Amino acid sequence: MSDTIEKVKCLIIGSGPAGYTAAIYASRANMFPVLYQGEQPGGQLTTTNDVENFPGYPDGITGPEMMIQLQKQAERFGTDVRHGWITKVDFSGDVHKAWVNEEKEIHADTIIISTGASAKYLNLPSEQKYLKLGGGVSACAVCDGFFYRNQEVVIVGAGDSACEEAHYLSKLCKKVTMLVRRDEFRASKIMSKRVKNTENIEILFNTETDEVLGDGQVVTGVRVINNKTNEKQDIEATGFFVAIGHKPNTDIFKDYLDLDETGYIINAVPGTSKTNVEGVFVSGDAADHVYRQAITAAGTGCMAALDAERYLAAKDSDFEVATSNYN
Ligand code: NDP
Repeated sequence: MSDTIEKVKCLIIGSGPAGYTAAIYASRANMFPVLYQGEQPGGQLTTTNDVENFPGYPDGITGPEMMIQLQKQAERFGTDVRHGWITKVDFSGDVHKAWVNEEKEIHADTIIISTGASAKYLNLPSEQKYLKLGGGVSACAVCDGFFYRNQEVVIVGAGDSACEEAHYLSKLCKKVTMLVRRDEFRASKIMSKRVKNTENIEILFNTETDEVLGDGQVVTGVRVINNKTNEKQDIEATGFFVAIGHKPNTDIFKDYLDLDETGYIINAVPGTSKTNVEGVFVSGDAADHVYRQAITAAGTGCMAALDAERYLAAKDSDFEVATSNYN
């Protein structure tokens, strides 16, 4: 353990669109934010190829490139962006404590959590291979469905997300095959009914993914197996969508913050970024299981910085709210 404790006004944990947007606002408000990037600098968007739905990029931009630009923008205003992983926090006292890589201790007046969520995958070697290649595996139909217009795709999952995404894909794609591992949906009745009533969605119950098929570069199909009969069949498809849930990256906060049953941080005051601990704010997918978009994450990053700024101003009469953020 290090014996030097660093004191900061604002600690931002996480480096997706939420964290970087919070950093842009916090640095412009003289909060001198320190941002730790976490295990996957840039967050979930670094696993996406083209981002075409973020306003301001008429020709699209790759996820990694967008994250580099957001980082530069945050650094331009003075954000101290650091490699490192916050492994532990202690929110029990007036001072909010956090530890970097189990070693360095930081005391922060305010903390903005932007740790995001991770899509769950099946973790089949073939799925991971084409995911890494950017060759047709995706966990976000809204982000990537557009690239499969008039093509045939497969989606796995049976919850509300899978139904919503299958329905979304059905409007773009020629055919959607949905793989449901049990003989029933987990999704709400209304969502499963909508999927069942959509002509170009075929639902295969009791069916699991055996292997994602491809030509070495891109997905060409999916080998599925009926778990009742053990019968296998190959389905032609250019896209393989996984919609089996997300896991918010909030484990280290569970002893201090109110989380829902899946682990999403609960906003203490709806419509704000406040958590149940004063001075600790949340932005992005760590608290959002509904929208999960880069633009909504960026929006809540802005809210968290403004809430943190007001909190500091109320606590410390020497700290002035920056007018620049309200221009
Ligand atoms: P859920 O946990 O609700 O569903 C996950 C689904 O994935 C389940 O059907 C599960 O199957 C299936 N699954 C899990 N692992 C595997 C696997 N290895 N192979 C095949 N299938 C697998 O997650 P969602 O993301 O769908 O929803 C999360 C929460 O968000 C829910 O509370 C949901 O209601 C809510 N939500 C609401 C929406 C809305 O109201 N518009 C939209 C989207 C989400 P099984 O059923 O067999 O366990």
